[in-house]
Amino acid sequence: MSYYNELEIVAIELDNSGQNPRVVYTHKEGRYTEWEFEYSKKHDWYYYYCIGDHPICYYIHKEPILFDSTKYWVSNKLDIPVIEKGDCEKIEILSFSIDKLFPKKAEIDSPPDWCKICKDWFPWDNYCEHLWWDDNEGCAIQL
Ligand SMILES: [Zn+2]
Repeated sequence: MSYYNELEIVAIELDNSGQNPRVVYTHKEGRYTEWEFEYSKKHDWYYYYCIGDHPICYYIHKEPILFDSTKYWVSNKLDIPVIEKGDCEKIEILSFSIDKLFPKKAEIDSPPDWCKICKDWFPWDNYCEHLWWDDNEGCAIQL
């Protein structure tokens, strides 16, 4: 896990509420990693995972994280190819690791699933009454 611990956050894209991270971009040795975030309303926690050519790790972070109401936070130290800087409403230097931003994380073994009825995300071991796991299909089934 040390590879992930050393990744430096270079951009945080917030959701429409301006308070929850939607995508976080990290950088190390010329490589950018994109982290997707899903917020669970029921549990008031986040699921997040990296996208790209690394082994995918899923994490859960059980404390709320509040940002101010800017849409993006972006380091001005680097040219970031993964986002268009024209979209940024605020430029700031971020020089902390993803572990520092999310210190209370725990690794989970699969991604959360979306319930269309609850309009929320649930882990496979704590589904709402509208979701269940289908062993044959290897995926969640929505009622
Ligand atoms: Zn549900």
